[in-house]
Amino acid sequence: MSKPCIICVAITGSLPRKENNPAVPVTLDEQVESTQAAFEAGASIAHCHVRNDDQSPSSDPDRFARLMEGLNTHCPGMIIQLSTGGRSGAGRERGAMLPLKPDMASLAVGSNNFPTRVYENSPQLVEWLADEMLAYDIKPEIEAFDLSHIHQAATLAEQGKIKAPLYVQFVMGVKNAMPVDKPTFGFYIETLKRLAPDAHWCGAGIGANQLILNEWSIAAGGHTRTGLEDNVRWDKTSLAPPMPPWWSGWRSCVRSTSARWPPGNRRARSSGSRRPDDSPQRPLTAVTIGCIAICTEGFHKCGIHRCSFDHRNLA
Ligand SMILES: [Zn+2]
Repeated sequence: MSKPCIICVAITGSLPRKENNPAVPVTLDEQVESTQAAFEAGASIAHCHVRNDDQSPSSDPDRFARLMEGLNTHCPGMIIQLSTGGRSGAGRERGAMLPLKPDMASLAVGSNNFPTRVYENSPQLVEWLADEMLAYDIKPEIEAFDLSHIHQAATLAEQGKIKAPLYVQFVMGVKNAMPVDKPTFGFYIETLKRLAPDAHWCGAGIGANQLILNEWSIAAGGHTRTGLEDNVRWDKTSLAPPMPPWWSGWRSCVRSTSARWPPGNRRARSSGSRRPDDSPQRPLTAVTIGCIAICTEGFHKCGIHRCSFDHRNLA
C-alpha cells in the first residue's frame, strides 16, 4: 500500500479576520462547524487557534478547552493540534493551554523574521515548551521556517527533549522568511532524511503559493496543510469559500481511486493511536488539491473545477 497522506486543516489562524474573508471562522461555534466540514471531507489534523470576542488572537486555555470539547464531540478521532504560535501571546503564555493535553501542539524551535516583526523563539522558551509537551505527552509539530530549524529539531530529538520520530512542517512563503523555492524544498527533505531518517514531514505554503506547496508535498510523499489560516483567497479576484469547491471533487476522486477510502477507516483509526507517526496506516491514496487529483499512479485532472496550474510540470 502506498504511504498515506495526512491533510491538516488550519481553519482560523491568528491573522485573518472577517473583513478579509467572511468565511474565516472566529467564534467557537463557527470553528467547530468549519472543522467538522473539513473532517468529513477527509482532513485528519485540526490546527487550532482561538480568538477573543474582538477577533484578536488569544492563548486563553478556557477557549481552547471549549474548542477541544466541541471538536471531540463533532469530529471524533480527529487529531487536535493547538497552536503555541507567537502572535497569540508572549512567553510562557503561549503554552498555557498545554495542560489540556491535546494530541499535538505546534513548536517553533528558532527565531526568524515575519512580514512586519521578528518571530522570537528564544532557546529558553523553546526548551520550556518542549518540556511541557514531553510532560503532557503531546506530539510537537516542529514549525520549520528556516533550514536551521530542521537542524535544531534533530538536535533536540537527539538530546531526548523531543520524542522521536519528529513531525516537521516546512513553512514556506512567509514574507521575509523562506520563500517558496523548489530546490530549497528538496534540500529540506534531503536534510531531514539525513538527520532524522524516521521523521515525518508536512508542507505548508502561505499565501498565493498554498496550492503549490500542496502539490510538491504530495508528489514528494509528504503530508500537507490547507485552510484559511494560510490563504484567504481562491485566486487573484475571489475569496476562498468556507467549503472550498475542491472538497467535493477531492472526495469523488479519492473514492474513485481507492476503494479503501470511505469514512469507516477513520472510525477504525480513532480506536487506535491518535499520533500521526504511529497511527495505523491511513488508506488515503489520493487527494485532490484545487482541481488536481494526485494519486499513486500519477497526476490527472478531475475535470470538476477551474485550474490555474500548468499540469505539464507535474509528472
Ligand atoms: Zn497556526
